[in-house]
Amino acid sequence: MIQTIRGFRDILPEDTVLWQAIEKTASNLFEDFGFQEIRIPIMEKTELFARSIGETTDIVEKEMYTFPDRKGDKLTLRPEATASVVRSYIQHNMGSSDPVQKLYTIGPMFRRERPQKGRYRQFYQINAEVFGISSPYIDAQLILILNELFKRLGLSELDAHINSLGCRECRPDFQKELLIFLNGKKEHLCENCLRRMDKNPLRTLDCKVPSCREALVDAPSTLGHLCSGCSDHFETVKSVLKEQSVDFTVDKTLVRGLDYYSRTTFEILTTALGAQSAVAGGGRYDALIKELDGPETYGIGFAIGLDRLADIVAQMINDIKMKKAENTDRPEGTEDIPKNASDFFRLVSVKSPDLFIIPLGEKAARLAYMWSSELNIARIRTETDYSGRSLKSLMKRADKLNAAYVLIAGDQEIEDNALVLRDMKTKEQYFVTAENPVEQIETLLNRV
Ligand code: ATP
Ligand code: MG
Repeated sequence: MIQTIRGFRDILPEDTVLWQAIEKTASNLFEDFGFQEIRIPIMEKTELFARSIGETTDIVEKEMYTFPDRKGDKLTLRPEATASVVRSYIQHNMGSSDPVQKLYTIGPMFRRERPQKGRYRQFYQINAEVFGISSPYIDAQLILILNELFKRLGLSELDAHINSLGCRECRPDFQKELLIFLNGKKEHLCENCLRRMDKNPLRTLDCKVPSCREALVDAPSTLGHLCSGCSDHFETVKSVLKEQSVDFTVDKTLVRGLDYYSRTTFEILTTALGAQSAVAGGGRYDALIKELDGPETYGIGFAIGLDRLADIVAQMINDIKMKKAENTDRPEGTEDIPKNASDFFRLVSVKSPDLFIIPLGEKAARLAYMWSSELNIARIRTETDYSGRSLKSLMKRADKLNAAYVLIAGDQEIEDNALVLRDMKTKEQYFVTAENPVEQIETLLNRV
């Protein structure tokens, strides 16, 4: 049997309901904030990622799926979306009509990492990018949007970590000081850090090797070296978040795994999936657009890890169900749906058929096919069955599918011009005539 490649997986129908509900909730939210969707290719020239993400990052050094195509061009499956969205902004000269563009995109990314829970080689991201705004208000607003998305999904206790990495003005001074510090710690640093430190000392701060982390506890931080512009910018971000009651922690170690960031960076961390991991991350990239041969324009954005987000939301829904099961005397439909999340819970609720038609006999099967198609077109979720099995076993199937109504349409009932429509909950029965039951069923079902 042929199976999926290691680190790749199917998202099965039992999960896509949840995924679609999350995607819809996110896109509605983005549109409430004036974002428009953009769809970008999943493959680009390797150079785009190498130049933007940075040659000495983990992603570019060892995680990209890169291969030559038949003509020898070097291509890469996108490991992230920002580079492609920036390329698109430049290529289509989007800034010429209005430098301010707010874009979102949802889709798969590819990184050849070690697969484990919450870490795949094909994974999915929800991305938002804003171009043309230098104001710190937009930095705060992106974090507010993440906060609001979590609320609309019914999640609480999100932990936003924020930091500022400074800019072209103040970073060089900081890097000099960091390099002096690193030189004094050389015997504790891993090979990777030693190799990268001269070219890109900031990367050492993102190293996950425990001995490096320990050695770098007292490393100088960008926050101690911000120029007045960066410092004012960061202060405004923090004060606006406070005023809007968005919880955050300043985390001077948060440098992120991509080179293009400047000023504000942020990550949303969660312990919901065991060890602490990031469910979203982002930041400002004011120099990137120019670096990719575009105009001098500001940029900022974030990426949400959809695989991890779906796991967290599934767990939250499970917890609610468990709580409800413990509290059995509560009437049905009164589970503790978190405030602001009712739209999401409506989207995620299981959709069972409105009607199941049970045909008994040759003639009945053909009519059941005709009627069910017409009802489907009339937006009534109708199922039927062509297996020719008995009434008893088809009633069982209707039960299993949790159909609200059953229509018993045997050859005999058709001849008698009296079909039985049964409400599966109340057990009430209605008769509908066999000439054109569709209209009668529509009326009956739409009435309730
Ligand atoms: P991590 O520190 O977990 O490796 P990252 O900093 O590399 O994350 P980003 O590039 O910031 O990740 O991507 C944003 C989000 O995408 C992450 O917060 C995470 O939720 C998700 N993500 C990243 N890599 C993977 C992966 N291999 N599998 C599943 N989700 C991922
Ligand atoms: Mg990573």
